[in-house]
Amino acid sequence: MAVPFRRTSKTRKRQRRTHIKLRVPGMTECPECGEMKLSHRVCKACGSYKGRDVASK
Ligand SMILES: [Zn+2]
Repeated sequence: MAVPFRRTSKTRKRQRRTHIKLRVPGMTECPECGEMKLSHRVCKACGSYKGRDVASK
């Protein structure tokens, strides 16, 4: 049910939004070296993808 916005205190409103955060999308930890990398991309730090070293030659 709708609540008039003044009935919700600033603290209540902020508490409700604690799990809403700004963050860089699509970042995951590399399973090889633990660096943060973009998902579905070759890791920049160690050059691995899907557990294989694809960048070395
Ligand atoms: Zn890596």
